[in-house]
Amino acid sequence: MEKRQHIKWWYPLAAAVLLAVLALAGRSRDRAAEAEPVPPVLVIDAGHGGADGGAVASDGTLESDINLDIALRLEALARFWGLTPVMTRTGADIAYPSEAGSIAAKKVADQHARVGLVNNTPGAVLLSIHQNNYPAAAPHGIQVFFGPVAGSDALAETTQGNLTAQLCPDNRRVASPIDKGVYLMKNVNCPAVLVECGFLSNPDDLQKLKTDAYRTKLAAVLLASWLQYAKGSSI
Ligand SMILES: [Zn+2]
Repeated sequence: MEKRQHIKWWYPLAAAVLLAVLALAGRSRDRAAEAEPVPPVLVIDAGHGGADGGAVASDGTLESDINLDIALRLEALARFWGLTPVMTRTGADIAYPSEAGSIAAKKVADQHARVGLVNNTPGAVLLSIHQNNYPAAAPHGIQVFFGPVAGSDALAETTQGNLTAQLCPDNRRVASPIDKGVYLMKNVNCPAVLVECGFLSNPDDLQKLKTDAYRTKLAAVLLASWLQYAKGSSI
């Protein structure tokens, strides 16, 4: 706990990006906070973890580690902003139930636990963080996917627009419905988006994703986008 309360060195950079996004959108923190009778709760999901490393880059970088680092930056920023986010995980390890023996069983148990956590959080609005991967090196850029619950598409479009404008202006990807196979996104009963922050299979994306500054910028834009959505949401 003590560690999380420190003022981090990267806060000034994050604050600059966050304020730039909010200013461009014509929002302010006060306006974001005052409009909601029942405040939405930011739920941050660092994709994969534990027995499930997710995608693996050619240099061995694990998707689960990048996801967690961005998620922890987002959590720290959100707390600095005055929010109390809920995390689906805060470390590399996951405590599985003893009956989950195989890796497949562990993954299933973990996904069920995450769905349970989200669905038991009143006012939850889920932001799931992942990295993309592809057999060829060329595909690159950020893409946001949205779940089936009302509001998810609006949050995804806001988030995609901000990420594209701030971090990859040449990006032509658009917010899209999530694939039916993504268990968490299909089973939560709240607005939910999944952000593929870049392609581990693309050398330029991977280099950026391995830097503290880029992860901080991602976290700041994600928080700004969530705040914009929360201000306009009726939940
Ligand atoms: Zn993933």
